Amino acid sequence: MSVRARPDACPGVFATHDAADGALARVRLPGGRVTAAQLDVLAGCADDLGDGSVHLTSRGNVQLRGLSRDTGELVGRLSDAGLLPAPSHERVRNFLASPLSGLAGGAVDVRPLVAELDAAVCAEPELAELPGRFLFALDDGRGDVAAEDADLCWQALDSRTGVVLRAGEAGPRVPVGEAARALVREALRFLEIRGSAWRMRELPGFSGETRPARPVPVGPFARDDGGRGMCVAPLFGQLTAAQLRSFRCDVVVTPWRSIVVPEFRADLLALSNDTEVTACIGRPGCAKSRADVRADARRVTARAHFSGCERRCGKPRGAVDVVAADGGYLVDGTWVPAEAVVDVLGQKGNR
Ligand code: SF4
Repeated sequence: MSVRARPDACPGVFATHDAADGALARVRLPGGRVTAAQLDVLAGCADDLGDGSVHLTSRGNVQLRGLSRDTGELVGRLSDAGLLPAPSHERVRNFLASPLSGLAGGAVDVRPLVAELDAAVCAEPELAELPGRFLFALDDGRGDVAAEDADLCWQALDSRTGVVLRAGEAGPRVPVGEAARALVREALRFLEIRGSAWRMRELPGFSGETRPARPVPVGPFARDDGGRGMCVAPLFGQLTAAQLRSFRCDVVVTPWRSIVVPEFRADLLALSNDTEVTACIGRPGCAKSRADVRADARRVTARAHFSGCERRCGKPRGAVDVVAADGGYLVDGTWVPAEAVVDVLGQKGNR
């Protein structure tokens, strides 16, 4: 079992992270769901209190950066918008759900299960002690969020039943109506046996089996009811406050730093980027970064992730690994000068 020398310090809103560009607050969005009114509040907070942008995360949450260390006003605005309903459990409300569930495909509409699971987790005082990295997922059968490294996932097998996955490994079969309770029981059991482990896969006997990533495709999609929706993927998952306000509808933030919009909107196409490159915040936002990785990543279109240091924050599985080092980058472990990184990644993409 791995032994963690320090407590988990995942940021929230009540406990922010001290970044080089100010305090960073992560706002949990169970199942990625956020209403039009809440988008407006987040945009206002970004404009008035932060760096003017909202940053989508790889767990379907949002972050605000460049904040004051005194978060009193932020807490007040987010609480009034219903975005902080359970202060004691704020950092453990990490719930992924299949973003297209109820709109297109899937064996079960898992949207009601998100609310059930949220309520069931917040009703257990002990679960406030879960590590902030612990991740729950509700997969409607298509295998999208089941592939996202959740500690505990319920994945539908058909319209009535599903299987509990522990760090990706199949456990008991559980009916839809008992999924939330089953995941809570498993989480309580994890707390009993975890020692200093943060994640299920750190326990003995768990291999942390990985599955092929299955992100929601960017662009329009056909809804089951005959209409059309769309998935918008802003470059680096970053939207200005004005761009966020332009949605004007309830949306779903996906774990692939994109946004599912239930109705197709031609005016939102311009927000999407057609590259597959991703990057951590890099310099100047993060003091650990050795480079302005986003400036370099903008020159690339390949499925590659640029990181300012070995922590590789937000790296999607399967992306070419590009880590800043000694005036250049380690591309899948091989050093290349910064000016050659575009060519090297272009060649990799053409193989
Ligand atoms: S990968 Fe390193 S440089 Fe980039 S945001 Fe994370 S800690 Fe900072």
